[in-house]
Amino acid sequence: MRVPLLDLDAQYRPLREALLAAMTRVCDSQRFIMGPEIDALERELAAMLGVRHAIAVSSGTDALLLALMALDIKAGDEVVTTTYSFFATAGAIVRLGARPVLVDIDPATFNIDPVQAINAITPRTKAILPVHLFGLSADLDPIMDVAVRARIPVIEDAAQAIGSTYKSRPLGGIGVFGCFSFFPSKNLGAFGDAGLLTTEDEALAARARLLRTHGMQPKYFHHLVGGNFRMDALQAAVLRVKAPHLEAWTEGRRRNAARYRRLFRESGLEGAIALPIEPPDRRHIFNQFVIRTSERDALKRHMDGLGIGTEIYYPVPFHLQPCFADLGHRRGDFPHAERAADESLAIPIYGELTAAQQEAVVAAIGQFVHQRVGASR
Ligand SMILES: *Cc1c(COP(=O)(O)O)cnc(C)c1O
Repeated sequence: MRVPLLDLDAQYRPLREALLAAMTRVCDSQRFIMGPEIDALERELAAMLGVRHAIAVSSGTDALLLALMALDIKAGDEVVTTTYSFFATAGAIVRLGARPVLVDIDPATFNIDPVQAINAITPRTKAILPVHLFGLSADLDPIMDVAVRARIPVIEDAAQAIGSTYKSRPLGGIGVFGCFSFFPSKNLGAFGDAGLLTTEDEALAARARLLRTHGMQPKYFHHLVGGNFRMDALQAAVLRVKAPHLEAWTEGRRRNAARYRRLFRESGLEGAIALPIEPPDRRHIFNQFVIRTSERDALKRHMDGLGIGTEIYYPVPFHLQPCFADLGHRRGDFPHAERAADESLAIPIYGELTAAQQEAVVAAIGQFVHQRVGASR
């Protein structure tokens, strides 16, 4: 049985008519930039995420960039972040001339180690940027306690974590800014690039809105040097159709995660394969279900051969990326992240995945594990 890593078509089919109607509404209005779709989406997502200000932007990457720009982060500043995330997290910092001060992860959660994050703070630290990787919240309280006292803003990279919670609080509303992505593979995906910036702070929201359109207010009067970070009205219309279904899709992913746990246990694979954990104070939304094994590359080849989709998130931590060579790191600096990069493998978890497909995924992994055990005897 072939199982794709993600099946966007399965999500699209039942909503096809509603999505086409929403896109037609925008086409018929000929209002493609800002306007009523963006206003409505911002209202609806602010209510859904429990935040005061939701600012629709062009991508998750631009949400990060805009958050840093709104905080006036520039050359000479330091931003503490994880070495293990999608590139945009560190890329946004470097694009502004600031220095990403990288720290290792907690190997149990893949998220930034809060103690190391706190220890990395210097007088030049202008922000801390934890990532809620794969849909599980970073351990925010220890970081927030120190950051609030030191008046260092925390920016949450919640690109993979929409609808996730930490101690019952929705992510994206705990730090000064929350950054979300609607890249098609995220739990709430647009038909192209789109993102969202959230904040409780009135003044920072106003500043981010200004920066979103070249610092311009009114037309052709520029107060700040911003950029074009607007979301297309077409993407907003698509997201307005999809957002009401997000909670059901997330429940589907959580149900599938629970089913994987049962299947791995029943197959006796728990010793050979490490499964993602969900600490009791956090709600995992499983943007990815990432397993670990020291035989990751061989397992991936085995799954490829059977037509089962898997992916490596991420094969190279930031401190070993060629473009960040000038940070002066080397292999061995962040051993937990390096090991995660060598061992992690995402397996299919999307909500429409069937029980039979999941059984096929686990059976394929079981076959691999038993072959290995047989070969080593
Ligand atoms: C997807 C992602 C981003 C960037 O979002 P885009 O919409 O693709 O620009 C940033 N950070 C993390 C952790 C992501 O997963």
